[in-house]
Amino acid sequence: MKTTNTALDSDAEDKGCKHSSAPTLKIYPDTVLRQRCEPVEQFNGELTDLVDRMFATLRKHHGLGLAAPQVGITKRLFIAEIEDHSLCIVNPSLELKSYYEYQIEGCLSLPGKLVDLSRNHQVEVTGYNLSGSKRHHQLKGMWARVAQHEIDHLNGVLIRDYVDPEVFDLPGCFRSQTLFPFKTIL
Ligand SMILES: [Zn+2]
Repeated sequence: MKTTNTALDSDAEDKGCKHSSAPTLKIYPDTVLRQRCEPVEQFNGELTDLVDRMFATLRKHHGLGLAAPQVGITKRLFIAEIEDHSLCIVNPSLELKSYYEYQIEGCLSLPGKLVDLSRNHQVEVTGYNLSGSKRHHQLKGMWARVAQHEIDHLNGVLIRDYVDPEVFDLPGCFRSQTLFPFKTIL
């Protein structure tokens, strides 16, 4: 996931990230972005290495979140980094906890496109860390938004799926269709 927040962009740049091992981003309409990903079964050095390289890609492109299929790996894991905090969740499951709110959202795999997208304000994500230990994460605001965006990726869902396909390729930012029978904050 990506936002238009340039302050966060410069923050990522300041970390002196190594970009050399960063896997190439998969860009829509690459078919790998439409696959439903498989659960991770092996918690080993290969998984840790994949996550390290995903962080390199995330920082190189100044994103807030990245899911494994965005680097061509159809496994259920994602990473996120907001300001100085980072998170990696393997085999995540999502529980919605709150109201919906709109915010403009981008995606590293859909460069240049923005959608005003309704997401839940607060979620609980249950998953595993890189050691294979189960963890519960209570996430709010931008963290919750990034988690919902990245878990969508693991199911082959992209931000373009939330708007009328006939308008998505037009210039401009479009508001997502109301998909949920819940209260939304406009
Ligand atoms: Zn994305």
